[in-house]
Amino acid sequence: MHPVLSGKYVGTALVTTTVVWHPACGLHNPGAGHPERPERITAVLGALRAPDLSPFIQWQEAAPAGRESLAVVHRAEYLDLLERMAGRGGGLLDEDTVMGPGSWDSVLASAGVALGAVERGLELGTAFGVTRPPGHHALAGRAMGFCFINNVVVAARHAQRLGRARVLILDWDVHHGNGTQDLVDSDDSIRYVSMHQYPWYPGTGAATECGIGNIFNVPQPPGLPRATYVRDLLAAVDLALDGWRADLLLVSAGFDSLAGDPLGGFTLEPEDMAQWTTALRERVAPAPVVGMLEGGYRVDRLAAGVSAHVRALA
Ligand SMILES: [Zn+2]
Repeated sequence: MHPVLSGKYVGTALVTTTVVWHPACGLHNPGAGHPERPERITAVLGALRAPDLSPFIQWQEAAPAGRESLAVVHRAEYLDLLERMAGRGGGLLDEDTVMGPGSWDSVLASAGVALGAVERGLELGTAFGVTRPPGHHALAGRAMGFCFINNVVVAARHAQRLGRARVLILDWDVHHGNGTQDLVDSDDSIRYVSMHQYPWYPGTGAATECGIGNIFNVPQPPGLPRATYVRDLLAAVDLALDGWRADLLLVSAGFDSLAGDPLGGFTLEPEDMAQWTTALRERVAPAPVVGMLEGGYRVDRLAAGVSAHVRALA
């Protein structure tokens, strides 16, 4: 689509999507050698500010999430634990999920970015939230897999409060979003489609895990031809949308499913994410499409993937 057909002018720039971000998302530092490092955000923001893409983007700094938004999804005791740990300057939540000084500010900023992205997406039709730390492994009462707060489910509940009753969550991160699945698998107002490497971390995501008929898992081996992953994810989306209309699509956009990522073995290229984004927009139209960042650990590939996804949102 030519941008003139879907965009609006803000000042002199042609703007067709909003990128929601917060500077505190760069503060969380889980330690030397950890793959979920602050450089990820730097690379993503740099790619989105590139001259060929920036004219299509309106930037919005989010407000950090308040506890009430998190409490819709997470247990009070768990939020208390996180706040106490943050007050002590940090601690270890699981073997690879570490809270350091600054991490709690990042966690609240990341959830706030997810909330802001939903609000802007509902206004403009698309948005992308630069969420870090990621969220899709976080459970109601437990951090895991680099994730503290389940940003995408927090966003889905916010959208429902704003009147979008049925939310489709699509997750193309190379890892199964066990937290997202666990938080929605008995709720017929949300459908969750995930394609992920299997068996692989975190061990969940078998095709037999269907929830109440609202969970659509596509477990895949590594090393398949790109086109197979592209086709199979869209087929699962078609299944999820068969007889069910989504009022909003949230994309848990993990870029560790790109070829070359150190934490996954999929073979996807940035243009595959762009193709998915365009195909998904067509499938759910006129419902808004809001992407938010999950994984992606080779920073040059991450930057290229986000750039392709946001370009297709614009
Ligand atoms: Zn991942």
